[in-house]
Amino acid sequence: MKATTHKKAAVEMEEGHTTVAPPALPAKMMAAVLYGSEDLRIERIAVPGIAPDEVLLRVRIALTDGTDLKVWKRGYHARMIQPPAVFGHEVVGEIVKIGREVSPRWHAGMRVVAANSAPCLRCYHCRRGQENLCEDLLFNNGAYAEYMRIPGRIVRENMLEVANSVDDRDAALAEPLACVLRGIHEMDVRSDDAVAVIGCGPIGLTFVRMLSRRGARVIALARRAAPLEVARRLGAAAVVNVKEVADPVAAVRALTVDGRGPDGVIEAAGNPATWELALAMARRGGVVNLFSGLPAGTKVEVEPASIHYAEIRLISPFHHTPRFFREALEAIRRGEISARDFVTEEIPLQELPQAFERMKTRSGEIKLAVRP
Ligand SMILES: [Zn+2]
Repeated sequence: MKATTHKKAAVEMEEGHTTVAPPALPAKMMAAVLYGSEDLRIERIAVPGIAPDEVLLRVRIALTDGTDLKVWKRGYHARMIQPPAVFGHEVVGEIVKIGREVSPRWHAGMRVVAANSAPCLRCYHCRRGQENLCEDLLFNNGAYAEYMRIPGRIVRENMLEVANSVDDRDAALAEPLACVLRGIHEMDVRSDDAVAVIGCGPIGLTFVRMLSRRGARVIALARRAAPLEVARRLGAAAVVNVKEVADPVAAVRALTVDGRGPDGVIEAAGNPATWELALAMARRGGVVNLFSGLPAGTKVEVEPASIHYAEIRLISPFHHTPRFFREALEAIRRGEISARDFVTEEIPLQELPQAFERMKTRSGEIKLAVRP
């Protein structure tokens, strides 16, 4: 151990930033820093300091996802990331440092998942149980690094201990799964409903898995054969390759009772054409879940008559709430979903920039596990 590291740890102890005596932390760490559009660099930067109500995690696994790929392409996220910045948000880690004001229930060495946000619990929306729409939603990023700072509000509201029986990669699915479980809850799906899922990226496939587990008859749609194979493995009762059929709406309806159309439709492909496809597909009285977020300014064509006289219920769930983050980790603990079906490869942090280049062309990766 270097003398300088010793000295730094001693200084921190004197300042009272720690309540436990952890093994001395290094001053610097490897981290992926986003500089702009498709400009991600692996750098040695300072290990984040923590405030009295914060904790520091040693990252065990961070998973890539569609949002990170989107942010990497754009180079920023209006609400979450202004470059240059660390990023990555699906994380499981081990507590290595604890601020003195943090609840005594947490201690060094605990394995935890921390959500990428936490609501204020005081604003108009929070008081009405719509914490996902919190006017002061606090976001946190920086999972693609050796260490990650967890802000106090996330420690208090959205950090959970991971049971010993749960694998790192599975635990790291908690955040996207929380969004999906909330989306399913808002749809009010009954068992044996037919539900079409448009798009078989990580989110679409998570819907396929969880809906199948809960008794729905899932019809998965995608443009490529490989993700449809995965959808079948995850429980889809039928799959439709939209490139191979003349009319996807007719193809899906033919798979439903009396050709009525699915009881529920989930749009998880992320473009205006698939939003329109979802709106055209549901049966009379069905529900359409427009799940993917499109860039501001995007327009979608809707025929009001086909919505109104068929009484199509439209929902567009965004993000997650503390309740569903907890339900997600619990579903993972019960084994309802496993990262084995989603994580195609584990890579060291150093290879992350090249991995994003590869994911841009979608060469078969669903999710990557990054181990710093
Ligand atoms: Zn709020």
